[in-house]
Amino acid sequence: MKFHVITIFPEMFGSYLGESILARAIKEKKIKVDFINPRMYVSGKYKKVWPDGNVSRTVDERPYGGGPGMVMMAEPIIKAVESVMKKIAKAKNTKTLIVNFSPAGEKFTTGNAKTFSKKYTDIIMICGRYEGIDARVDKILKTKLISIGDYVLTGGEIPAMVLIDSISRQVPGVLGNFDSREEERISSSEIYTRPEILKYKNKNYKVPPVLLGGDHKKIEEWKASTKK
Ligand code: SAM
Repeated sequence: MKFHVITIFPEMFGSYLGESILARAIKEKKIKVDFINPRMYVSGKYKKVWPDGNVSRTVDERPYGGGPGMVMMAEPIIKAVESVMKKIAKAKNTKTLIVNFSPAGEKFTTGNAKTFSKKYTDIIMICGRYEGIDARVDKILKTKLISIGDYVLTGGEIPAMVLIDSISRQVPGVLGNFDSREEERISSSEIYTRPEILKYKNKNYKVPPVLLGGDHKKIEEWKASTKK
């Protein structure tokens, strides 16, 4: 599975993808994540070379019809996506999904994660910032609009990380034991580990006795009863 993230903040992903299961999945080439910065596709008056040699590339503009905040322009994003599509087209048997994020999109679920992991070889994710992205991007690129919950974030980078994490879990070989995926077994909202009795402020907090008895049928029943 290859994830292609269109973002003006690629550095935000480093620490999350650099640790634990996802870092191992990348190292073992089970998944690949690359970043494309739309700033690199800015041209004309939006690209300025300053006397000291520094270059500034602006990707946002004022909204038509007024309103607070700035809007990401369509062209740099479309060009960034096209550059990815060209690269993907060089490989055989690819199937690509283009995702844009919005609190108004379809609510993302484990069901989506499973379907996407089976159906697509490449997922392009566009991370909006500011007040969002010029609506023509969705019309031209025929994006799938996804929400990760009923709240408003400042950008699409966290939603992109959510998709990378949850879809990667569905890729065989990413989790140590594929069948141990929580999504596939009865898992409780309550889990316990050593010690059996935890002392805290003169009180004893005990592990539920059913978990210590070794009766697997009873344990499964208890897990089902505590599942949220
Ligand atoms: N007015 C925009 C809208 O309704 O789509 C909200 C823009 S929000 C401040 C900036 C960006 O954050 C969005 O373009 C989107 O990429 C991301 N975003 C914010 N909340 C999100 C959510 N709940 N799910 C997915 N993406 C979200």
